[in-house]
Amino acid sequence: MGINQDEPVVAENPWEPVQVFSNTQSPRLARGVHNHSANLILTQVNKLVDWGRSASLWPALFGLACCAIEMMATSASRFDLARFGAEVYRASPRQADLMIVAGRVSVKMAPVIRQIYDQMPEPKWVIAMGACASCGGVFNNYAIVQGVDKIIPVDVFVPGCPPTPEMLLFGFNQLQDKIRQGIPNPPDPMAAR
Ligand code: SF4
Repeated sequence: MGINQDEPVVAENPWEPVQVFSNTQSPRLARGVHNHSANLILTQVNKLVDWGRSASLWPALFGLACCAIEMMATSASRFDLARFGAEVYRASPRQADLMIVAGRVSVKMAPVIRQIYDQMPEPKWVIAMGACASCGGVFNNYAIVQGVDKIIPVDVFVPGCPPTPEMLLFGFNQLQDKIRQGIPNPPDPMAAR
């Protein structure tokens, strides 16, 4: 049987055995082959993992100003953040995956917040609680960062001065929905600098 001149010549890939059996990634399929059942299973696993993450968020333990009092009230018995699995505030950023920025961010405090955020492991999320954290609030002056999203990526903004615990709970539920839907974090404002 002769070679058909119309068929494209496909070069052999010498790395294919390594790529197919790489232990650092999911097994790859040869180009052009699709395993839809495997994709379906991985999608379902991802959904399960996202659901688990959304129901077990551990906030970093710190507050910046008056909004922090409302954040503490949200965790106490009357409003009971534990209903949503997020009552375990962690004193170490290494053990936290949620930062609730509760209060105004001074220019002096900004690098500290950024460092705490950087020390949190991935995946991680941020809630800007209150007018000050979201946009500077009434403190339109040189000492206050006009929105914490200038230094870290913010997933959910909660308005108010101060926001009530119910408002923070609503913002928290919005974040849970976002995680369950697999919506990625916004771009890091410091990444391009
Ligand atoms: S938003 Fe209001 S309550 Fe919250 S830190 Fe600013 S001034 Fe205080």
